[in-house]
Amino acid sequence: MEVWLGVRLQSAAMAVESLSSVDAALHRFGYDGFRSGQREAIDTLLERRHLLLVAPTGGGKSLCYQLPAVLLEGTTIVVSPLISLMHDQVQALAERGVSATYFASTVGGRELRERSEEASDGRFDLIYVAPERLAVPGFRRLLEGLKCPLVAVDEAHCISEWGHDFRPDYLALGEMVASLGVPRVLACTATATPIVRDEIVTRLGLPPETTQLLHGFARPNLALRAREVRGKAERDRLVDDVLSEALGDPTRRTGAAIVYGGTRRTSEAEAARLATAGWRVGAYHAGFSGADRDRVQTDFMSADLEVVVATNAFGMGIDRADVRAVVHLSPPGSIEAYYQEVGRAGRDGEPAIGLLLISPKDLPLRRHLISLSDSDGPVPPEIVEHKWNLFLELVRWSEGGSCRHDAILRYFGDEAETLDGCGRCDVCTTLDEVSEELSEAETSMLVRKALSGVARVHRRLGLAAAVKLLRGEQDPRLQRYAFDQTSTFGVLEERSEDWLTRLLRRMVTAGWVDFTPGDRPVLVLTEAGRETMLQRRPARILLPLARAALAKGVSRRRRPVEAGEALTPEEEGLFEALRRFRLSEAQERGVPAYVVASDRSLRDIARQRPDSLRALEECFGIGPAKLEEYGESFLGVVASFGRHG
Ligand code: ADP
Ligand code: ZN
Repeated sequence: MEVWLGVRLQSAAMAVESLSSVDAALHRFGYDGFRSGQREAIDTLLERRHLLLVAPTGGGKSLCYQLPAVLLEGTTIVVSPLISLMHDQVQALAERGVSATYFASTVGGRELRERSEEASDGRFDLIYVAPERLAVPGFRRLLEGLKCPLVAVDEAHCISEWGHDFRPDYLALGEMVASLGVPRVLACTATATPIVRDEIVTRLGLPPETTQLLHGFARPNLALRAREVRGKAERDRLVDDVLSEALGDPTRRTGAAIVYGGTRRTSEAEAARLATAGWRVGAYHAGFSGADRDRVQTDFMSADLEVVVATNAFGMGIDRADVRAVVHLSPPGSIEAYYQEVGRAGRDGEPAIGLLLISPKDLPLRRHLISLSDSDGPVPPEIVEHKWNLFLELVRWSEGGSCRHDAILRYFGDEAETLDGCGRCDVCTTLDEVSEELSEAETSMLVRKALSGVARVHRRLGLAAAVKLLRGEQDPRLQRYAFDQTSTFGVLEERSEDWLTRLLRRMVTAGWVDFTPGDRPVLVLTEAGRETMLQRRPARILLPLARAALAKGVSRRRRPVEAGEALTPEEEGLFEALRRFRLSEAQERGVPAYVVASDRSLRDIARQRPDSLRALEECFGIGPAKLEEYGESFLGVVASFGRHG
């Protein structure tokens, strides 16, 4: 399944003409057919249009520039931060008779000069370039002298300060694209959130209407699991168990695993521990020399190692298909980062396990990490806040009681690929076990009681009041609406406040309950929640255990995080229109897109369709300053969408 964003203007003649040559070129690359999304991406580029391609790591994005590079006259430039992989890529292309080379700091001066000369003669179909090369004047002159039909920017999210992997070198790309006047730019990334996508388009200087193609986020072969751990002994046991489940015992040598250690020290210690257990294991982090890191990477690729314990520096572009498990000893900074890392498992499509371990101390640790000053000085508070929220999304996901696979896709906005339960993740499998303390009927009854409490307070009161209602505790807010006189008052009086709070939060992850936007969020029973309450949908949710642990840390967050309530197709259309407006506005003012408005604001505007400044002010995140600055323009977009949309 794939989602098309933007308008698709296909020239039929062009398509027919290119058909045979595209197929012939595909053959040359040794593939029998296209993977989902590849053909569309290639056609878009051949039609001389820019493209932002969002697909998970391993989704086959390289072909989308390699194939046009072969068909188009001139030399395609590929900007990539993955220097360690360039050599292999160039070699793999050479084996298919495609002439390519690369420029990076790892290549010696004489060799660089030779490559430059050949490049000037137009001898290469493709040139891979490390981003820092672009700052070298001689190299820029070389590029300017080339006929360049296409610039491909790999890992394009590195251009976004908003993303989790910002690289200042990438900022030079916009200017380079402009000065070379390239007819086609392909930006590739695995990071899907709309705000980062828009940021990429803006910073590369592409028009706001640039096609964005997003596909392939579902990874139904991954069994995603998340566990809270209390101490090192428990952690060791869980790691050992998952390695033996995924790889058998160390002597079998089938498949591989990546263990992300979080810190350098943990990575080294864990590597030593696993080596003692008999695994062929390497440690990898930025503190090792380049040669050491290359060796670990090479040994891993050539199956001389089955386990690598690493910090997140490892694995960008790792192309070993038989990784059977990816284990995180502590959580990375966001769902995006997690999904990218866990996505290195099971690229061959066979079953693989992703295990995320999280302990209560990870919360304060992350809070500390994101507020650390970097080389540019202290991190601005709004960035700290943003990063903290990204992290809390991951924590919330880890404690969520609904299918992990579906919850991630909902987060990315890839609703079309959700499965109504993947059947593999820890939540789905626990749900399928009969060893539940409650029978299915009892669970369903309990869930419906809780949802009826939400239905009572719907759009009036918040989560704490709903919990009081269910527990039958007196409260002025309940009395104000006479809720204490209703049959719902005290229906779940036997449950603790903490337990009910966690249950309701899980219902948010499940998409049954949402919050209204604004500073004083109140509960909303979503359509899916109503259906569940009325027993028209199965009440598939994992009830919280009677433990408090992580929930405490999370309840400190200031605002509830947005649930994945889907927009209707029409609202989606308006949302896209608003995003295009935001993008052009951001470009004009030279500010990042999030300064204009957040996705959440735009989504809320799309839902509410305000027709006055007053109504607009009710939308999420629209304060007086925003109202003044952009109010009329937003209303203009909404109004003109109403006319044409
Ligand atoms: P990405 O850049 O999206 O991370 P890659 O381009 O490196 O992914 O592709 C991942 C793997 O998929 C590679 O091993 C590649 O050979 C393989 N692949 C790509 N396209 C196809 C195809 N059409 N058919 C079969 N295999 C493919
Ligand atoms: Zn599942």
